[in-house]
Amino acid sequence: MSVSWKESATDGDARSGVLQTPHGDIATPAFMPVGTRGTVKTVDSEDLERAGAEMVLANTYHLMLRPGSDVVADLGELHDFMSWRGPILTDSGGYQVFSLEPEITEEGVTFRSTYDGSRVELTPEKAVAVQEELGSDVAMILDVLIGLPATREDTIEAMERTLRWAKRASNAKTREDRALWGIVQGGSDPDLRARSAAATAELGFPGFGIGGLSVGEEPAARNAAVAATVPELPPLAPRYVMGLGDTEGILDCVARGVDLFDCVLPTRLARHGKVLSQSGDFSIKRAEWARDTRPIDPNCACVACRRYSRGHIRHLFATREFLGPRLLSVHNLTYTLDLMRRSREAIHAGEFAELHASVTAQRSGRS
Ligand SMILES: [Zn+2]
Repeated sequence: MSVSWKESATDGDARSGVLQTPHGDIATPAFMPVGTRGTVKTVDSEDLERAGAEMVLANTYHLMLRPGSDVVADLGELHDFMSWRGPILTDSGGYQVFSLEPEITEEGVTFRSTYDGSRVELTPEKAVAVQEELGSDVAMILDVLIGLPATREDTIEAMERTLRWAKRASNAKTREDRALWGIVQGGSDPDLRARSAAATAELGFPGFGIGGLSVGEEPAARNAAVAATVPELPPLAPRYVMGLGDTEGILDCVARGVDLFDCVLPTRLARHGKVLSQSGDFSIKRAEWARDTRPIDPNCACVACRRYSRGHIRHLFATREFLGPRLLSVHNLTYTLDLMRRSREAIHAGEFAELHASVTAQRSGRS
């Protein structure tokens, strides 16, 4: 058994289902916390389970350089290495590599390691081999990323090379017990998105990333790109918007039929003292919380909200105590994972549009 998805409810274009993997089933729509270096910053596996995480993401780029995918394999692959029993998805490493301004040829990309400056080559075939060695349940193809704004010509060239690389990645796959998903590109042009989606679907992948979004584009452009992509993909294949994790973005994409998300945002914001909240996000560092005995969110069941006051957490940040980023990371993940649970329940109840509208209104102070 590899990885497959089956639908359990629909509500408009939004849908809920079950993603079956060798490491258990998860309910979708789902959010994957990001374990960049095989660890979700500041939290442990039990924190993640308590927060409601069912699947996590790990970064191939970092793990192939440190400690090396062969070391991870010797330590029992990613699941044992990072002590995570549930499913794991790995990215291909492309996103990090392309941010390093690599040398790009038809063969692949060559870049300098952020750790020791050595030259490293990544090809579509090697990205698959590394991820198979890491043992993730779902591996992603190496795609070609371009900076924005990009010309239509450059967008087409990157999209077409991604398709050629996708075919090579498919041919390089050897593990039957693991899945390899394609990635749709096409920039912010709905027409190119549709073309990329149709051509990637034709390659027969069992699941699809929607890449190149959440890179600073306007919400309307992102929504148009997703809306153009989804109808071109096979209905029973999971759809995953890569790198998106803000409340409004998640709800907009769930409304358009997206099943899976990942993002560093909840934990990165937490380390900077930013609280995600149903009534609007805020900074815990503000002076007004200094003598505030209330929890950061009275409706949240996380340890930060059950046991600590705003005043105390503000103090942790003011004194740079390690517990501050940890508590807010647990809270922000709990908040985001709870949003996914509420979305799934609303889809099953046929009330997703109501949830979407009420969350948006409440957070913008309009309720
Ligand atoms: Zn909380």
